[in-house]
Amino acid sequence: MHALGVRSNDKTFMHFFTLSAMREKILKVIRGYDLEEVVIGTLGSHSALNILRGAKDEGFKTLCICRKGEEIVYECFGIADEIVSVSDFLEILNPRIQEKLIEKNVILIPHGSFNAYLKDLDRLIIPFFGNRELMIWETDREKQRMWLEMSGLKMPKKFEKPEEIDRISIVKYHGAMGGRGYFLTSDKNDFYKKFKYLVERGVIRDIRDVEIQEYIVGANVYFSFFYSPIFDRVELITIDRRYEVIDGLGRVPAEIQLSSDIEVTYTVIANFPVVLRESLLSKAFKAARSVVDTSRRIAHPGLIGPFCLETVFDDKAEMYVFEISARIVAGTNVGIPNSPYSYLMWGENMYMGRRIAKEIKIAIEKGRIEDVIY
Ligand code: ATP
Repeated sequence: MHALGVRSNDKTFMHFFTLSAMREKILKVIRGYDLEEVVIGTLGSHSALNILRGAKDEGFKTLCICRKGEEIVYECFGIADEIVSVSDFLEILNPRIQEKLIEKNVILIPHGSFNAYLKDLDRLIIPFFGNRELMIWETDREKQRMWLEMSGLKMPKKFEKPEEIDRISIVKYHGAMGGRGYFLTSDKNDFYKKFKYLVERGVIRDIRDVEIQEYIVGANVYFSFFYSPIFDRVELITIDRRYEVIDGLGRVPAEIQLSSDIEVTYTVIANFPVVLRESLLSKAFKAARSVVDTSRRIAHPGLIGPFCLETVFDDKAEMYVFEISARIVAGTNVGIPNSPYSYLMWGENMYMGRRIAKEIKIAIEKGRIEDVIY
């Protein structure tokens, strides 16, 4: 039903069937919850500290599912009321663990580390804050492009094959790899030379696994928005930019860069807070609203809660969107306890983890919890 353009085939029917069956199961679970005793839970990594602190600030009890040996971080900060240790995050699919979490009235908050388990999400019946189907859309580059283009956003041009490359381009691989092993190229010969090198080292296997995209030279800006189904509004919570391994390249003199075989990668190491020129904010808000409208058409009921638009502004301050995430991103960690934008809106400490918990709290108060969990 929800995936556009493929309404009539059997696969889509099965997909719809699975989704509605899933929704029924999740509704049954949440209807059995004691909503005065809801516990906010998440996997111990990515933005869990943000999520757990936010839940505590809004008065919830918290639970963190940690891989054995990694509990120390969550114990040290003292913001997890309970820690459940597992050998692998996949264990949350285990019916016994799910039962235990359901007994405790746990609502899970998904983040980037959930992406690896999305293919098995139909086995996870613990209620999630957010729209599971859109999380699947964001892990598929083709679907992301469809979503962003349907929203009327300007994207970097995509080259279908290396022979089409006519400008500086970035070569990416499928799946969220945090920019590991991506490379820049400007023509087909250079592409094949670098591609061969990476195949030999086992980084890529098949040319079908790569996406070649126009490289926009400019300022990277990552907008973290929150769509509130309760207030029906889009809020700007934080803006950040990433600190990637390639940023260290500028410290190596040009002649040494040229004479040595330095391998640069876009691996993300950290994030910086950003404040945008005010005159550019309108572009971001228009894009965010449009993305929310489109999300309702592609995956009912559309976006719920956090989402991130990854953009580059070029020399004419034109905004290009090259990626969307349909959940909290780690860049929001720079906005604890607030960012200039969350403060402007809320006049108090507000950050993504807390904003999520606040939405759950208000939804419970208004008897609308079923509108925010999927
Ligand atoms: P993640 O899922 O963590 O965002 P990813 O593997 O999907 O990572 P991208 O975010 O698409 O990777 O790209 C990694 C980095 O490469 C970006 O942070 C940005 O610096 C740069 N980048 C990607 N696409 C472009 C582009 N079209 N123009 C300029 N820079 C780009």
